Amino acid sequence: MSDQQQQYSFFGAVEKSFDKAAKFTKWDKGLLEQIKQCNAVYRMHFPVKIGDQIEVIKAYRVQHSHHKLPCKGGIRFATSVNLDEVMALAALMTYKCAIVNVPFAGAKGGISIDPKKYTPYELEKITRRYTSELIKKNFIGPGIDVPAPDYGTGEREMAWIVDTYASMRPGEIDALGCVTGKPVTQGGVRGRREATGLGVFYGIREVLNMPEVMGKLGLSTGVEGKTVIVQGLGNVGFHAAKFFREGGAKVICIAEHDGAVYNADGINETDLFEHKKQTGSVRNFAGAKTIATSNEALELECDILIPAALENVINGENAPRIKAKIIGEAANGPLTPEADEIFAAKGVLVVPDMYLNAGGVTVSYFEWLKNLSHVRYGRMEKRFTENQNRQMLEQVEASTGKKVTGKIRQEIIHGPEEADLVYSGLEETMITATREIMDAWKANPGIPDMRTAAYVVAINKVGTSYAELGIFP
Ligand code: NAD
Repeated sequence: MSDQQQQYSFFGAVEKSFDKAAKFTKWDKGLLEQIKQCNAVYRMHFPVKIGDQIEVIKAYRVQHSHHKLPCKGGIRFATSVNLDEVMALAALMTYKCAIVNVPFAGAKGGISIDPKKYTPYELEKITRRYTSELIKKNFIGPGIDVPAPDYGTGEREMAWIVDTYASMRPGEIDALGCVTGKPVTQGGVRGRREATGLGVFYGIREVLNMPEVMGKLGLSTGVEGKTVIVQGLGNVGFHAAKFFREGGAKVICIAEHDGAVYNADGINETDLFEHKKQTGSVRNFAGAKTIATSNEALELECDILIPAALENVINGENAPRIKAKIIGEAANGPLTPEADEIFAAKGVLVVPDMYLNAGGVTVSYFEWLKNLSHVRYGRMEKRFTENQNRQMLEQVEASTGKKVTGKIRQEIIHGPEEADLVYSGLEETMITATREIMDAWKANPGIPDMRTAAYVVAINKVGTSYAELGIFP
């Protein structure tokens, strides 16, 4: 299918959600139109020698907005990559960054290949060539546009990108900040790997702590004892399940592509992951009941359902049978607009992807700051804080005559490591974003759902940026 034929599908759907929310804002038509459009679209073809053949590779980078710089967004390697999808994902990045107060504008990139068909050496050649194409057109740089991983890419590809960039920009002192999601040894930050799943946990926990919202859903407040179903035991699903279990919830069912497992007393995701590694499947996990399909698992009784695998898994067909009271969209686009309407009518709370899975970009922001500051988080303050804490504790011990020992002593004295600070920054970000969205929803009861409320928050922030730039009075 050509790019022209695919135009106005996914991107069209994003525009539709935007228009639905724009009605609840005060911005004039011209400004709204400027926010909606993709500012710069770069479609490229380049040759790469694979074996003894020349292959022409098709790739994209879209910068949706320039209201802040740099632009930010992942790079996808998949055969399904097309211009419409990249434009839609770039637009979503603008709104996502605005919601979580990360000072970037949205972008997205993609290479239309099946990464499984290539050797690591061939993938490296493709990634490095793509990077040099971006450099040639000034579409990458720590102050211009900063990619990150997405489907089909990870730390390895980010390491190739930063190495290519640094070697073509000799002497550029902030070169490490040209891409995020790098391995820690190449300028990455601790906590990035689990960031999205942890952000999902922090976001839903904050909603669970709102008595008014829980009252409407007929649920008690707090994470403790809530029943959770997770679809997808990949990066996001695994970590979401882990943090919910550690937070006191019962993860009663975990679904994978070939079936699901159920245990009313809870499933340990780490043991299940190990079982999957050894047997190639989640099925037949000790002490749990095997469920034939992933789709069946979605329809089981639970308090919180977390789709963390694919898009469009909950739609007009199965939404009426879903029994969860809260759906936390950890994946990108797991619900169709038809499902949204059904849940709004049923009074199910849908916590939208656009903000709930923003943990990755939030911690990417911390990585970029680390790269620009050229210092590891915690390096300057860890020992200082520990000395202060020790002195305070010793004063208290001297005045009370009681000695604090063991684990509690260590916890009181402990100065922050990089991961502690990253977790703390992510927690603050997700709590603030949840409250801002809920406040916007409360302020205008005409807003039909939390997704629209999230768009309203995003549009208002991007609109304010443009207005402050003086482009629109
Ligand atoms: P992943 O590839 O690590 O995990 C996906 C998992 O889903 C795999 O284990 C796969 O086997 C499983 N799966 C596939 N089909 C399934 C099905 N029908 N039922 C149940 N499980 C199925 O990917 P990920 O990084 O965890 O991303 C998952 C989703 O979260 C995607 O939509 C992605 O765009 C989104 N997301 C990821 C991040 C991130 O930081 N990784 C950030 C934001 C959004």
